[in-house]
Amino acid sequence: MIAILLGPPGSGKGTQAKVLKEKYKFLHLSTGDMLRAAINAKTPLGLKVQDIMARGELVSDEIVLDLIKEKIAETSPNQNVVLDGYPRNVNQAHSLATLLSKYERKVDKVLSIEVDSESLITRLTGRRTCKVCGAGYHVQFHPSKKAGVCDQCGGELVQRRDDMVDVIKDRLKVFEGQTSPLKNFYSSQGVLEVIQGDQQPQEVTQEINRAMGI
Ligand code: AMP
Repeated sequence: MIAILLGPPGSGKGTQAKVLKEKYKFLHLSTGDMLRAAINAKTPLGLKVQDIMARGELVSDEIVLDLIKEKIAETSPNQNVVLDGYPRNVNQAHSLATLLSKYERKVDKVLSIEVDSESLITRLTGRRTCKVCGAGYHVQFHPSKKAGVCDQCGGELVQRRDDMVDVIKDRLKVFEGQTSPLKNFYSSQGVLEVIQGDQQPQEVTQEINRAMGI
């Protein structure tokens, strides 16, 4: 199965993708994670995209398509895949369909996680990530025992540059303008499922599992 988690920044795509990975052995492909890894490693790609990402804009369709192409090429034909943060616009969705057709695969389910924008801002501004092990926290909903320090490895907790309030507003605009049209795109293909994202993560997981029949 190829599933897409579609939703605005902060809707819980990453959290739910991790459940699919850990519990159901899906391959988790997050273009955002791949780009952040490139930035941290200071690769030519990382240097090219870091300012664009810091502003909350989308990087070019060609860049993300190259990243996804490489991963899909090395994936076995029966491997379940969850795409998190890709596609982000209709052009990317067309490219994805063309790419998958080369492997006789297609998008089977698109889970649109819906959360109102006020909750998204609270979720995103409080989000913290361990610089060392990548564990996720939230200053209000899931604080670490010691402020700024990871419970799991003692690493420093940092805020993503694009989780600052002004950038968040721009990212939400980008979602509304460029990404949300994908709902109609996939609805017309009969693969869209709407998931109520304003619930506890475990409840969202249950809804996703029901929608995917797992
Ligand atoms: P995310 O971690 O999915 O919220 O992505 C963080 C940032 O990475 C986005 O704001 C974009 O700048 C960039 N990005 C991630 N995925 C894509 C994509 N599919 N297309 C264009 N830009 C992307």
